[in-house]
Amino acid sequence: MRRAQPAPGEKRSAVQAKGACVCGAVSFEIDVPAVWAWHDHSQRSRHAHGAAYATYVGSWKSRFRMLEGEAHVARYEDAEAGTVRSFCARCGTPLFYERAPSPKIVNIPRANFTTRTGREPRYHMHVSEQADWTWAGEKLSPLKGYPGVMWVPPGRGRKPPPDDVI
Ligand SMILES: [Zn+2]
Repeated sequence: MRRAQPAPGEKRSAVQAKGACVCGAVSFEIDVPAVWAWHDHSQRSRHAHGAAYATYVGSWKSRFRMLEGEAHVARYEDAEAGTVRSFCARCGTPLFYERAPSPKIVNIPRANFTTRTGREPRYHMHVSEQADWTWAGEKLSPLKGYPGVMWVPPGRGRKPPPDDVI
């Protein structure tokens, strides 16, 4: 997957999207356009990212190239889930997500890219696992006395499930 150079005779598109981790030790590129882009609401991705959900850009591995920092990439194989997640061992940024059902695809967090990828994230996967605390676009109001803080006033958000009612 991590070839620094295209194989001899390999077609390379004229446009690449570049990405990197937070500390900059690891950088990579994919040929544009990517295969697709999607929001992952699964519990595992939510946990691995420490975020409400993860938004990925899927690229053919053959259209992916490491540019720098391969030595900083750490891999975690989750045999039960059939996945491999890679991250920067220096700064912790999630980098690559590989799934057994799609062995030719590498999923890369959209947030890692500094340029456009040629795909809008129009697809939502594992919506049934979506966290009930995910902000779903409810109308926000300024919080009085706290400049810059917005909030969802009571009664405007989604109703919590019965377990959360105190
Ligand atoms: Zn890093």
